[in-house]
Amino acid sequence: MTIFTGGCQCGAVRFRVEGGLGQASICHCRMCQKAFGSFYAPLVSVPDGALAWTRREPKRFRSSNLVQRGFCEDCGTPLTYEAPDGIALAIGAFDDPAAVAPAIQFGTEAKIAYVDGLHELPERSTEADVESNPYLSKLVSRQHPDRPGEDEMPLQGPVA
Ligand SMILES: [Zn+2]
Ligand SMILES: [Zn+2]
Repeated sequence: MTIFTGGCQCGAVRFRVEGGLGQASICHCRMCQKAFGSFYAPLVSVPDGALAWTRREPKRFRSSNLVQRGFCEDCGTPLTYEAPDGIALAIGAFDDPAAVAPAIQFGTEAKIAYVDGLHELPERSTEADVESNPYLSKLVSRQHPDRPGEDEMPLQGPVA
């Protein structure tokens, strides 16, 4: 069985998905831009009953009469999009977001024009930035590591 795990930046809210994921997408709509504070929202739908919260549940904001959006009330990480036809999780919150590749774009009527050129911007690694920002060498991360903690619900089987 395929198991996916993830959670918010501080680790207060953690999740596990068993048995596969649904459609992965990015949504350019204005509601998703606001909810994520970003250019678009990367989301993957989860099958009914496949999602378990393994620490706290997210706090929810009802962004419309039909949809609510979940986030960590401690650190603010956007985590869910919850509609009448199901729930989707923020791809960036997964412990291994590279394993969840988006396959379609939604809400393109609101797409910000420069998004199509982002991959052409000049590139700098974090290490290259240490030279211009020496404080980075003293940085101590408080971000939750990209793996389940020992206090989370025990896994049902081996993790691939
Ligand atoms: Zn958090
Ligand atoms: Zn949207």
